[in-house]
Amino acid sequence: MATLVSPALRAAADGFVKASGYGSAVLSGLVPDRRHLSQGGYHCSVEDLLAYGNGRDYSNTRADDKGFNPKYGAAYDVTMSRADMIRHYKRVYAIFKDKSDPRHKYINAINTWPGVGDPVRLDFVTGKVTRASKDHSWHAHGELRRRYLLDAKAARAHHSVHRGESKATWVAREEKTGAKPPATIPAPPKTAAGNHAPGSRVLQYVPGRAVLGGDDVAFVQRFIGTARAGPADGVAGAKFRSAVLWYQALRGLKSDGIVGKATWVAMGVKSNL
Ligand SMILES: [Zn+2]
Repeated sequence: MATLVSPALRAAADGFVKASGYGSAVLSGLVPDRRHLSQGGYHCSVEDLLAYGNGRDYSNTRADDKGFNPKYGAAYDVTMSRADMIRHYKRVYAIFKDKSDPRHKYINAINTWPGVGDPVRLDFVTGKVTRASKDHSWHAHGELRRRYLLDAKAARAHHSVHRGESKATWVAREEKTGAKPPATIPAPPKTAAGNHAPGSRVLQYVPGRAVLGGDDVAFVQRFIGTARAGPADGVAGAKFRSAVLWYQALRGLKSDGIVGKATWVAMGVKSNL
């Protein structure tokens, strides 16, 4: 059993990292790891929460979320500098306070840090602020409402909140009947001349052979996260291979350290390999 990353979850995370104005933002989690499992498991599908023996279904607790999209993870983590965390808190909290904001319905909760004291968990459904675990002083955590995991508008709403867009701007663009949503979510990484789109080739590290490099390698590094893959330098060396092995084991894929079709698809990338 493996937790799937929904296109909207990925788009919400990509929008946050690439187009919200945080210079230090790095995607650090879209799939479950042991730490998240021990703390609740919002990154897990409902299936995996049960399979791992967690026994509780943290991502499906709202009555109107029950039964929606059980195979998908519901949350993303973005690691940031102290200054960016504080900026993030200010932007998100300003939007959180206004319960009439239509973006709220797409957000289960966002964890962030005001720069002093404990990190906070902003519950967008109940409007309550509680304490988040200490690790949220260095990473923001966002959760899509499970019922909207396949809704592109949910991704745009998250992105809009992270970049601090005003309610008026959002409403004018997204809530008018017949209004066409613009492409606010960044497209997958562009392929520069001589470079490679994610999913277009097999990535493999073989000691003694020329090391592969490119946008597609950096994509995998960002996807797996800096804790395992190191900085996204686009170089597929030994560390890249060990990060891929870890990811494959986590997802229940064949563990060979090679990013082929199955591993690309598991990362939400189309591949014709
Ligand atoms: Zn998280």
